[in-house]
Amino acid sequence: MKVMKFGGTSVGKPHRMKEVAKLVTADDEKKIVVLSALSGTTNALVEISGMIASGERSTAKQRINELELIYQNFIEELLTNESLKIAAKKILAEHFEFLTIILKISFSEALNKDILAQGELLSTKLFCLYLEEQEIPHKLLPALDFMTLDIQDEPQIGTIKVKLSQLLQKNKDIGIFVTQGYITKNAKGEVDNLKRGGSDFSASLIAAAINADVCEIWTDIDGMHNNDPRIVKITRPIEQLSFEEAAELAYFGAKILHPASIWPAQFYNVPVKLLNTMDPSAKGTLITEHAGSTGVKAVAAKDNITAIKIKSSRMLLAYGFLRKVFEVFEKYKTSIDMITTSEVAVSVTIDNDIYLKDLIRELEAYGTVEIDTNQSIVSIVGNEITDTKEIMRKLFDAIHDIPVRMVSYGGSRHNISLLIPRSYKDQTLHALNKGLFGLD
Ligand code: ADP
Ligand code: ASP
Ligand code: MG
Repeated sequence: MKVMKFGGTSVGKPHRMKEVAKLVTADDEKKIVVLSALSGTTNALVEISGMIASGERSTAKQRINELELIYQNFIEELLTNESLKIAAKKILAEHFEFLTIILKISFSEALNKDILAQGELLSTKLFCLYLEEQEIPHKLLPALDFMTLDIQDEPQIGTIKVKLSQLLQKNKDIGIFVTQGYITKNAKGEVDNLKRGGSDFSASLIAAAINADVCEIWTDIDGMHNNDPRIVKITRPIEQLSFEEAAELAYFGAKILHPASIWPAQFYNVPVKLLNTMDPSAKGTLITEHAGSTGVKAVAAKDNITAIKIKSSRMLLAYGFLRKVFEVFEKYKTSIDMITTSEVAVSVTIDNDIYLKDLIRELEAYGTVEIDTNQSIVSIVGNEITDTKEIMRKLFDAIHDIPVRMVSYGGSRHNISLLIPRSYKDQTLHALNKGLFGLD
């Protein structure tokens, strides 16, 4: 059995959704098809939710109407059968009525999650109608029936496994299952989600839960590239990556994969393939336990990083000191990405500054605290990169004119990370493309 996940652009236009139907029927293998919302929908829902939260109900209503119009046009082009068109209109009415009704309800975080779930609910239902029109046997498996988060908001893979296998057992004769990416139930039994871009994570969790032969992530590019194609013009796809390399790239900003999407597949040793819906015959990227080769494979960048330096005139790094500092971060559930130390200071970076004020207040017990906001982490990733000859010379030659704030080397053998001001990110990625990959 395999998992095939299609992202927003892959289902974002009626002709694209029709292509997806072709791809899922291209072989006879049993599969679970995981769909994102149509591209632009989740962004629109985030906006609508924000408007409702801030009391701008008439602007929210206008935005809801605009979105509904997109869907009305979408079904006109997707379907030809009149009775299926009526069924599609009913589905739209149901979801857009829900959005309109909530305009009258007072805003809450649970309501926000309900709003954000509408995109995947719509895309999967419309896709199933198209499969029905094409007389392709299939079954919709609602993700809310088997995806669950624990009290720490971590996916409960054991429970997902049990629930999903029961559902599959009940439908043994079905070849194509369709389900929603991104959405899940949380520990309170409410609708929740796996954070933006979370459909990749859903696919990997499902693949792990059913011990799939492969987890295919179909998107709008032919695999993981060596650099961020949104910033650097000339980039090339990477044929093979290890789970560790892919996880580092995903975590440190390669948008093609959700930051947490590799670990379930890695843990259950399910190969992941990154494939292009616009060019299905392209090789893409195969991600397995084996890296294929050593040395630099790719660079990625992560924005919105805050650096925190704690400096003391006392002997700061006396034993027990780091524990106390880390406990402050633990208390505020804030994870640290990079860390460097000296005799009198320790610098760390965080990517979530909602508790920054509290962190500063508590850290000030240990010394003066300096904050640099709007930083970026640029990560250079490759199997055993730290053992690669001349890597540091090449790296620093390439970025000689970039003001580097922190360097992390040796934490993992597959990653070297730099902290730089966000304003230097594009320049750094261009310089590394030239200096490390010879691409200009
Ligand atoms: P989907 O909607 O299919 O989930 P995403 O937009 O989330 O697609 O991810 C695909 C996009 O990721 C690509 O269009 C590309 O612009 C961006 N991207 C960023 N870094 C990389 C990279 N290193 N390799 C490939 N794509 C990347
Ligand atoms: N639709 C969600 C988002 O836009 C999840 C996803 O596309 O992976 O973030
Ligand atoms: Mg994505």
